Amino acid sequence: MRRRLIILPCLLAGLTLFSQAEETRPPNFILIFADDLGYADLGCFGAKDFETPNLDRMAKEGAKLTNFYVPASVCSASRAALLTGCYPDRVGITGVLFPTRAKDDQPAGPGTTGLNPDEITIAETLKTKDYATACIGKWHLGDDTAFLPTKQGFDEYFGIPYSNDMGWWRGKPKDFKKDFPPIPLLEDESIIETNPDQRYLTRRYTERAVQFIRQHREDPFFLYLPHTMPHVPLFVSEPFSGSADYGLYGDVIEELDWSMGVILNAIAEAGLDENTWVIFTSDNGPWLSMGAHGGHADPLRDGKFTRFEGGHRVPCVMRWPGHIPPGLVLDDIVSTIDFLPTFAGLAGASLPEDRKIDGMDVWPYLSGRVASSPRDTFFYSPWVVRSSKWKLMMPGKYKEIYPAPEKSTNGMVDYSHPQLYNLASDPGETTSLHQESKYAELIKTMSKLCTDYQEALKTEARPVGHVMPPAD
Ligand code: MG
Repeated sequence: MRRRLIILPCLLAGLTLFSQAEETRPPNFILIFADDLGYADLGCFGAKDFETPNLDRMAKEGAKLTNFYVPASVCSASRAALLTGCYPDRVGITGVLFPTRAKDDQPAGPGTTGLNPDEITIAETLKTKDYATACIGKWHLGDDTAFLPTKQGFDEYFGIPYSNDMGWWRGKPKDFKKDFPPIPLLEDESIIETNPDQRYLTRRYTERAVQFIRQHREDPFFLYLPHTMPHVPLFVSEPFSGSADYGLYGDVIEELDWSMGVILNAIAEAGLDENTWVIFTSDNGPWLSMGAHGGHADPLRDGKFTRFEGGHRVPCVMRWPGHIPPGLVLDDIVSTIDFLPTFAGLAGASLPEDRKIDGMDVWPYLSGRVASSPRDTFFYSPWVVRSSKWKLMMPGKYKEIYPAPEKSTNGMVDYSHPQLYNLASDPGETTSLHQESKYAELIKTMSKLCTDYQEALKTEARPVGHVMPPAD
């Protein structure tokens, strides 16, 4: 209630501005997606030894989301969900896509699967309202021409179409893996370089982003900027080398923060501050086994690859002067799958009627108009669900990078009973409450959420894209 009272004056001013803006043009959307950046890797989320003043400023001038989720803890599945507004299982991409490795007499080349071109992405949704659209950075939803951003609603693409370690190992060119194709740098659908110097990727992406903003200052636009960094191998340009006390990882984050500052300046210089909603978040939690080259998720448990909070809960800050009240802290559940319907609502675009979308329009909550998120339930997988403050993991084996004290073998923890955590009092998932009889009914109810969802997927799941039709 207190939060509501504080934001109301700002809100009224914001609503006035918003109705004026709405009359003239729909808003621009800039969505920046860091790669493997952990929950605790921004200053405003508790980062130590490196600084993120521009991202912290976004939180100060806009909102910081403390329970923001990606529905997968790996790259491709998380991106598929973000762009389609659907859980990964629904669109058939639940893991990581790879280019094809050389085998026998077959040369290395593009991968044969990708996000199905029949899926409707945020970009395609906004194209129905004449948005200019660009994807700049790491795509990772299929590197065959059939799956590139230009086939999914983006007018233009510039970047590396998959992870920067697929072909590199331990960051050293001399250890280049021979069985992968050379890493391509694409302009739209053409390879313009191979094995580009990764020290300059953040800078090059940023320059492209600024160019796109300037070119489209008169149009409504959607700029999707999925950074290659801070996915290992880490690279940073010279001005940022040694800039942080935390070594290379900190240097890389400080360059990403610089990039954010450059983009914010470009928006202001173009006179688009009050027309542009800017969001910064991450595709999944930190790669903890990379040690000092991985990020941080404190106080959450574990990181990338896992169903624990550190894998799925990521930092998120967003800014839109006049529309998102400054200093707003949002503690309810919101997910990347909610962006598609939320953007569509603001742009006046229709959602597809021939398919199920899992995302919800969360604008009333993000703009401070209502105190609670419409999203109360979130699936980490068909076997793991959050409902309000409760998280349930159904019995089974779960990947674990940092073993918990109870039991873990070969990177897997085997739960013979459902695990129940109270995330409000135990965000680190240290103590399962499943043995307390007073929670038996809650466990039953939440288990049913999972089994109903599993059942629904049997008829509602849609196929992944294949370059060639699957064999009979
Ligand atoms: Mg990632």
